[in-house]
Amino acid sequence: MKILVINAGSSSLKYQLIDMDNESLLAKGLCERIGLDGKFTYKPLIDGKTKIDAVDVPMPTHSEAIQAVLKALVDPENGVIKSMDEIDACGHRVLHGGMEFTESCLVDDAVEEAIKRCIPLGPLHNPANLMGIKACQDVMPGTPQVAVFDTAFHMTMPPKAYIYAIPYEYYENDNVRRYGFHGTSHRYVSARCVELLGNPEHSKVICCHLGNGSSLSACIDGKCADTTMGLGPLAGVCMGTRCGDIDGTIIEYLMGRHGYSIEEMMNILNKKSGVMGISGVSSDFRDLAEAEETNPRAKLALDKFFYDVKKSIGAYAAAMGGVDAIVFTAGIGENGVEDRSRICEGLEYMGVKIDPKRNAERADEHLISTDDSKVKVFVIATNEELMIARDTKAIVEK
Ligand code: ADP
Repeated sequence: MKILVINAGSSSLKYQLIDMDNESLLAKGLCERIGLDGKFTYKPLIDGKTKIDAVDVPMPTHSEAIQAVLKALVDPENGVIKSMDEIDACGHRVLHGGMEFTESCLVDDAVEEAIKRCIPLGPLHNPANLMGIKACQDVMPGTPQVAVFDTAFHMTMPPKAYIYAIPYEYYENDNVRRYGFHGTSHRYVSARCVELLGNPEHSKVICCHLGNGSSLSACIDGKCADTTMGLGPLAGVCMGTRCGDIDGTIIEYLMGRHGYSIEEMMNILNKKSGVMGISGVSSDFRDLAEAEETNPRAKLALDKFFYDVKKSIGAYAAAMGGVDAIVFTAGIGENGVEDRSRICEGLEYMGVKIDPKRNAERADEHLISTDDSKVKVFVIATNEELMIARDTKAIVEK
């Protein structure tokens, strides 16, 4: 069975074609600047096939983008399948499932309506995700479409973890609560971690998804018990350009002093804050590591990030009454050797001991703690696309 995995943004569309018979990646790529001047990349993963890097590809809407993807996939010379009929189903990443979705599901009219109802909660992403679904329905009528939600994994949180201490009616009437994001990644790495622990009967795992956006989750027996992101992805630890947890008073104070509109204020908190905002240098952790020796603000930005992550690890260990394993994943978590060791520095009291040699090694999955570390620390490369493809296969087969 072959599954096309789609992650649609407002002007972009990432795709992967996965052969689920052996879970191998056949091709992947990206459509960018949809509705503008159209940029298209295609990378076949079969020997002897050539990749495409094209600019000025007319893609007025997501439908033309999907058409371009299919054209490349079935190309007689460099394609990886003979015809589009070989694609058995499409799996779509959908950002916000609100309280409507606790798991992935087959898209029908009712599901589309429910995703639409979640637009106020995910105003930037859900409309784009729907465009991706619509485009596939247009171009591949009859092919099953499956929606996989970023929020779904976190829906097992207990009320004390998801409720905000504001009048209860906002929860009841307006669905204001903690939802959490990166759920597909947290689900993948937490499940892998439990396997690596040898499937114990009870497990307490803290997952640190550290990338451009960062979030942590506390997982008990493979189920999410708490996570750092909230109603939206702005909350929790500070990130590349997002502020993370701040005092709401700051918003009123700055809007008053500078006359910002709420849109301007939210743009500052989403796009100009985080380690970028503190350092004034970059949101990229490699740039900050280079700059920190000579630039105190770059060092402060990194210190603040490591401190936030460390505090969340401590909070989740307390919340779960202990921790068996900590997992690092995503861009910084998988690649940042120094970042991992600075986060874990000072956590020896709770049984976390990093082995510097193991930490410096590179592998998709590896243990980086010492043999006598009470808490095991792993690096596990996340694979959200594979998780989406697995869900899609399971749903279509059912
Ligand atoms: P996204 O949230 O966009 O999927 P990624 O998971 O790809 O983001 O993570 C991007 C982040 O990973 C960037 O901040 C980048 O600096 C960081 N990163 C990538 N490689 C390294 C590295 N070798 N050391 C430290 N950070 C890294």
